[in-house]
Amino acid sequence: MTAEPQDQPPWHTLEPAQLYERLATSPAGLDAAQAAVRLSRYGANELDAAQPLSPWPVLLRQFKNVLIVILLIAALLSAFLGHAVEAVAIAVIVLFAALLGFVQEYRAERALETLRGMAAPDAAVLRGGTEVTVPARELVPGDLLLLRAGDRVAGDVRLTEAYGLQLEESALTGESLPVDKHAAPLTAPDVPLSERGNMAYAGTVVSYGRGAGVVVATGMQTEFGGIARMISTIEGGRTPLQENLDRVGSLLARAALVAVAVIVSAGLLRGEPFIGMLLFGIALGVAAVPEALPAVVTISLALGVQRMVKRHALMRRLAAVETLGSTTVICSDKTGTLTRDEMTVRSCFCAGSWYEVSGAGYEPVGEFSVQGRGGAPSAELVELLRTALLASDAKIFQDQATGRWAAQGDPTEAALVVAAAKAGLSRDELAARYPRLDEIPFSSERKCMTTLHREEVGLVACAKGAPEVILSACTAQLGEDGEGPLDQPAAARIAEAARAMAAGALRVLAVARKQGTSRAEAESGMTFLGLVGMIDPPRPEARAAIATCREAGIRPVMITGDHPATATAVARELGLLDEGRVVTGSELESMDDADLEREVAAIRVYARVSPAHKLRVVAALQKKGEVVAMTGDGVNDAPALKKADIGIAMGITGTAVSKEAAAMTLTDDNFASIVAAVEEGRGIFDNIKKYLMYLLSSNIGEIGLMAGAMLVGLPLPLSAVQILYVNLATDGLPALALAVDPAEPDLMRRPPRDATRGIFNRAVVTLILAGGAWSSLVNLALFAWARASGCSDAEAMTMTFVSLVLIQFFKAYNFRSDRDSVFRRPFANRWLNLAVAWEICLMLVVVYLPVLHRPFGTFSLTAADWAVIILASGSVVPVLELTKSFSRRRGGAFI
Ligand code: ATP
Repeated sequence: MTAEPQDQPPWHTLEPAQLYERLATSPAGLDAAQAAVRLSRYGANELDAAQPLSPWPVLLRQFKNVLIVILLIAALLSAFLGHAVEAVAIAVIVLFAALLGFVQEYRAERALETLRGMAAPDAAVLRGGTEVTVPARELVPGDLLLLRAGDRVAGDVRLTEAYGLQLEESALTGESLPVDKHAAPLTAPDVPLSERGNMAYAGTVVSYGRGAGVVVATGMQTEFGGIARMISTIEGGRTPLQENLDRVGSLLARAALVAVAVIVSAGLLRGEPFIGMLLFGIALGVAAVPEALPAVVTISLALGVQRMVKRHALMRRLAAVETLGSTTVICSDKTGTLTRDEMTVRSCFCAGSWYEVSGAGYEPVGEFSVQGRGGAPSAELVELLRTALLASDAKIFQDQATGRWAAQGDPTEAALVVAAAKAGLSRDELAARYPRLDEIPFSSERKCMTTLHREEVGLVACAKGAPEVILSACTAQLGEDGEGPLDQPAAARIAEAARAMAAGALRVLAVARKQGTSRAEAESGMTFLGLVGMIDPPRPEARAAIATCREAGIRPVMITGDHPATATAVARELGLLDEGRVVTGSELESMDDADLEREVAAIRVYARVSPAHKLRVVAALQKKGEVVAMTGDGVNDAPALKKADIGIAMGITGTAVSKEAAAMTLTDDNFASIVAAVEEGRGIFDNIKKYLMYLLSSNIGEIGLMAGAMLVGLPLPLSAVQILYVNLATDGLPALALAVDPAEPDLMRRPPRDATRGIFNRAVVTLILAGGAWSSLVNLALFAWARASGCSDAEAMTMTFVSLVLIQFFKAYNFRSDRDSVFRRPFANRWLNLAVAWEICLMLVVVYLPVLHRPFGTFSLTAADWAVIILASGSVVPVLELTKSFSRRRGGAFI
């Protein structure tokens, strides 16, 4: 489907009827079958089809690795020089190493690809007259696309409806100010894109209002198609930790190579054969360079991110995973995140009387009563509910399968629709009698919404919103005796009634109307009709999650557009406001930045705030050194989400713009999922740390052993093949198993990690050095002792080889925690147990299978040899235990 067919009038000049005809569609949209046919005909609504991930390039990449190439050359060299057996052994080890690298990288990429698919945007369309949400890639020409504030337009659309609709078209035109849109046809065919007021183009963003239109082009055929890519990807990038480790890795590689060069030169000086020393040097170099480091870090991050998906948190930015673990403050919206966002009207205040409303959920069954006495609702109450119903867009329906009543649209409005139905009012009937002609949409800044309808006497405006906003627009009120003026005492009584409702944790909306008006004058001189109070029960899991936050040293803060009294009552119920204070948006405005910074640590609840306030709160918290996670769902929340260390968008109710600005999206909009994600973030960081301790300490142990032997004039304790084997056995599966180690039980009982400090704190460095140095010493002593006590070279080398491997395994178990004893939960990591068991079996084969004796330079060890080996290698356990307890006593920061 082309964006603008050459031989036909352009889309923006068509009357709606012509538009429907040309695209073979209708105001009710396409049905599912038509949409499916068009999808196969026009293709998916994507820019350039993403290449499916193929394993081959990943495999090939392994052989481009310098170390692997050097090893292959070494294998060829030794074959050429007549060391055929060694050549084969090296080649096999290289193949294994490449395979391992491949598995690691391919897994990481697959994980990322899966996540990319999940982050894809949605679009709301009418299919067969019913609103459905489809993945944006399934949008087809002829679809009726619905547009709301915060949506990113998913295809090129000719508008058929526009209420206060404004689009931000900078992605297309470079103009950053929002542009007003309308639905009327234009006469001039050749107007530039930026002046086509009745078109909405793919890639632009709805900044305000509401609209609908027919999709005229999708995918590469859209105007945007030629210009830019759609933003649907996860930003890979390198995380600060990865960058840090890249630096550490290359530093270590250089240090290792220098050490190797020294060892090889010393060997040559002592008269060792050149080729033998060269091979050995290469093997040692390969073993010492932490080449698996980047892949394992990516795997830890990617697997952790997959676990987060299971816990309803979808990461868009990988770098944020690390930051998550050091979060110190979580600023959360109230409605929907801390509460269930299932509103039910409980009471109404109307013409001076209080009404209780019975019933639960969205089922339209319940009664109105005054002080316990039921009866038909009064005429004023019916007028209140009728006006509220006219000003609402939500629909309620009964699920055919379960029989349960559910709502579509804004839950606040759904509650009003249900309450009106309890009074016998039907939205279809009312909509037919008083057709809606226009509306002034709701926004979090305005905190109210007005619709305009045709009535016998002319236009009537129906408004609902925050009580103080509606009251300030009213000059009259409806009482038992009809309309009368709204004087100061009456307004004060109403405000007091609103406060009383809010103090009972109810969300309060005021309702007003104005008869015989126009759009321009609709929101002034209105008649106040009454107040409606609805409950929105706290999420049961939120309370527990808040308690967990507290234990984990994280401060939860509520930021809401709701009334301070409602916010306070809900915060108390959730255990969020035991201490600290509540601040409103207007108080916030009276504080300057310095005041706010001073107070910010004590504030637990921000009420009646607008999205712009959120930005100030984040900035103030960050100034105080806090690492801030902040939730948001609206289009205007995007700046605060970007500014926060972790911006969190709502997967269900959030707008596309907020999701794009956020680092993470909650697929269930639930506060508890944020806390779960923080826990995963901490776990991921810990696992990278464990892996790193293991890897570095092992490498130090290997190089230290070789360097030590050279220094004290011993022959080489290990052959080139043995060194390569040790590297493969220890850097391979056990290292991977550490990357998926289960979290330590007290993970959420520790304070957050200091984000300014890297991974190498004192405790970690001490453990790495202690483990590495002890391993070098013990193995050197073992080798020297074996030779001195009359063992053959092969026997002494095999004992050292086995002891080195076992010591690394002991360390793997020990480094599962940098603070707790290894005996606390020694075998909790099933993968590590399996990996170690498997590697030990392989090692026994290498030691006892006679055909492998030559290539590996091994010897069938005796029971006595084993006793010595186990004693020597096991000695690393008490050494590391002592190091940990020493560090613990010094009260070092262990995080
Ligand atoms: P949170 O920021 O925690 O999600 P919230 O949902 O209460 O809180 P907003 O959606 O910005 O925040 O609502 C602010 C106020 O606007 C509400 O307290 C209510 O008085 C009013 N309001 C909410 N929804 C509507 C609506 N659909 N129509 C009219 N007024 C509304």
